[in-house]
Amino acid sequence: MAQEQLLKYQQEDSKLLDLEREAANSEERKNFTQAKAFLTKAPEKLEALEAKAVELSRLAEQLSKQYSEISDTLKDFESIDELALGGTEISFYKKNVLQITERLKSIRAEISSLTKAVKDADEEYKALKKKTISMQKQYAEYSETYKNYKETKLKEMEAVKAELAKLAKGIDPAVMQKYQAKRSERIFPILCAVKDGRCSKCGTELSLSGKEKISSGDVIECDNCHRFLFKD
Ligand SMILES: [Zn+2]
Repeated sequence: MAQEQLLKYQQEDSKLLDLEREAANSEERKNFTQAKAFLTKAPEKLEALEAKAVELSRLAEQLSKQYSEISDTLKDFESIDELALGGTEISFYKKNVLQITERLKSIRAEISSLTKAVKDADEEYKALKKKTISMQKQYAEYSETYKNYKETKLKEMEAVKAELAKLAKGIDPAVMQKYQAKRSERIFPILCAVKDGRCSKCGTELSLSGKEKISSGDVIECDNCHRFLFKD
């Protein structure tokens, strides 16, 4: 008798579980939580991008300064042709000029890649900013839609819960408490039939005392998956 009532309860409870799952996996909830997560992270990301652009600009500026300083040293070699005419050994100077020119070339390349990186970071920032603004508008809409959806679902859940409360009256409170504990552990179905002396859910064989108890009509627990078992 007790098991029949518990089975009825479980059947009704499975409706509640379906509603809970439906609500948790709903598009309404997904849109809402995704928008919320995006907006929570956006300020930090924007700040990081801004800091990155500033730092890269600073580096580019530093290199530009270095570039002009090194360029200036080349002026010292401007009179190299005159030196050559004068018969001075100029290969040393030429080598120096060549080295400096190479160094300048590589700095110029670095500056150009930094300038590009600054531009990229800036564009990324602008795109994220734009998306954030549009997401803020959308969030208000998602939030409202989700709120309405939740209200509807909650009403449906309340109706099932009222039915469950009625059914629970015919069940031993101690059993009910155990049932709820199992349910909160996401075990479902909680009540299963015994088939050929085994738990029909996980296949574990019942102990001797378990078999005795079940044959006398008691509801027992599976040693392995801890579901309630009853004689079918
Ligand atoms: Zn089991």
